[in-house]
Amino acid sequence: MDRRRKDSLTGIPTADYFAALAQAARQELADQGQPLSVLFFDMNGMKLFNSLFGYEEGDRLLQAVAQMLCRRFGAERVCRVGQDHFAAFCGDADIDTLLPHLYQEAAALNGGRTLPIHVGIYRDVPEDVTPLAAVDRAKMACDMLAATYASGSRCFDTSLLAAADHRNYILEHLDQALSEGWIQAYFQPIIRSANGCICDEEALTRWIDPDKGLLSPAEFIPALEETGLIYKLDLYMVDQALAAMKKKAECGVHIVPVSVNISRADFAACDVVEEIERRVAAAGVRRDLLNVEITESAVTENPQYMRTQIDRLRAMGYKVWMDDFGSGYSSLDLLQTFDFDLIKFDMTFLRQFHTGPKSRIILAQLMKMALKLGVDTVVEGVETEEHVRFLRGIGCDKLQGMYFRRPIPLSEVIQRSRDQDDLRFENPLEADYYCAVGTANLSDPAFVDSKPTEAIRPFLHSVPMAILELRDGHTSLLRCNNAYGELLELRSGAALPELDICDVKLPRQPDAQMIAAAEQCRAEERWITVRHSKQHADGITLHSMLRRLAVNPVTDAVAVIVVVIAGL
Ligand code: C2E
Ligand code: MG
Ligand code: MG
Repeated sequence: MDRRRKDSLTGIPTADYFAALAQAARQELADQGQPLSVLFFDMNGMKLFNSLFGYEEGDRLLQAVAQMLCRRFGAERVCRVGQDHFAAFCGDADIDTLLPHLYQEAAALNGGRTLPIHVGIYRDVPEDVTPLAAVDRAKMACDMLAATYASGSRCFDTSLLAAADHRNYILEHLDQALSEGWIQAYFQPIIRSANGCICDEEALTRWIDPDKGLLSPAEFIPALEETGLIYKLDLYMVDQALAAMKKKAECGVHIVPVSVNISRADFAACDVVEEIERRVAAAGVRRDLLNVEITESAVTENPQYMRTQIDRLRAMGYKVWMDDFGSGYSSLDLLQTFDFDLIKFDMTFLRQFHTGPKSRIILAQLMKMALKLGVDTVVEGVETEEHVRFLRGIGCDKLQGMYFRRPIPLSEVIQRSRDQDDLRFENPLEADYYCAVGTANLSDPAFVDSKPTEAIRPFLHSVPMAILELRDGHTSLLRCNNAYGELLELRSGAALPELDICDVKLPRQPDAQMIAAAEQCRAEERWITVRHSKQHADGITLHSMLRRLAVNPVTDAVAVIVVVIAGL
């Protein structure tokens, strides 16, 4: 084969030569009553494979794929399109029998060090579509599989063509849409849970097209992100957010911080931090009035680099919010690696609110963790009163969702504020006060009193709790939490022996009242309260609440939960 017709790595035809071969074979296939079909192949995860195993191993895999395709389709019916992309042509009838074998073989290539294969299929290629155009269309179908991991195929249909047309339209008209104001910022309020006022707003983009009508971000952001053009839109949105603050100030509306969304691709396209800073400085707006939202998925790709950018923004005085936390395979490690001012919990948590208790448990625990880490919180997708009640209960500072208001244009924001709509803007001077009220951790009293007296300390970290075991009239301590341990030490004046926790000897046996109550627990499954006769310090009287936990069927010992409460 002529060297120019051959791919140098794999030795199979190049795309141009493939096109000539396919064109020539068309008639031959037609004579056999078989319309031409074109397939496009993409190895899923090649980039990661190269970085894990090295380029040489990657090349070996590509050579093995080329050989496999030659065996299945014939050496003159395949080509390497570029990178990890290949194409093949065949008669339409052959496809269904070929593919299952191909997946199997792909899984065993290169001694098993291989990748799943995605296949896009263009069946029955019409006469007026050239083989190379057919490869493009097969690729379009293949690209639809990007989100799936396993091997699989997808056929081209005309809806994909419409999607490609739409995408081209977006890319070709972006500059015009920006300069002619087709792209607008809509604002959605973020509500302080403690006072129901608007404490921040999120600027969300809308493309109001003269021909196509209102386009939501999902209809144009992916194309802009893939092509790296999204920075134009994002910086335009920063301008819009700053202009909106100015306009509101003129109208006498309280100015609250506005969030803008920044894409991962922005950092590759320009020095986005510098670009933001330039705009904010020119507008003469305080930096802490601009929140920069960065999605969880954007920071995971290149964490070191993103960390420096986030630190840079924060050092300048911008608030950085982590958007959509929990939407992907987020790891808690993110919270350790990055310093965010706020975590925005993705709406998937609330979408699963009614399917069982899990999402509520997870959200409540994550909220506690955020509070302890000193990070502020928002939950998005708040749609019902029940959501609001739950989130207020678990100490979520801010809420965002349709329950309060959908995103609306600035003119409407101002009009509603003039009409004294049910939502008021928070007075920024009250922000800290209501943040403190909303995020007070009602399951951990320690946060109110950083220097408690010794007597009160055990009660501040958590309720003192222990499990006592009563066996043959003898009491032992099976387990206790720190608060109980502290209390015990305080009252007995002796340190708890640091030993095998399974059988901690109590400094002294509980008094007769306690033992009687524990015995009663064995017989009755209810709470039994004991008032301790020995006075605690600072005029505090202690009560213990006891309840049976379990009975040991072998020894007949009874394990009793003890909860100590303090009163004056
Ligand atoms: P996001 O930043 O997570 O924004 C929240 C999205 O949830 C918005 O959708 C909002 O309209 C929607 N939403 C708000 N409340 C509710 C609710 O109660 N229920 C439901 N189901 N949805 C609610 P939108 O405006 O369509 O934006 C979608 C995404 O597009 C945004 O998600 C953001 O990732 C992206 N986006 C929007 N504007 C921009 C922008 O200017 N730049 C960049 N890079 N991305 C943007
Ligand atoms: Mg956002
Ligand atoms: Mg979000």
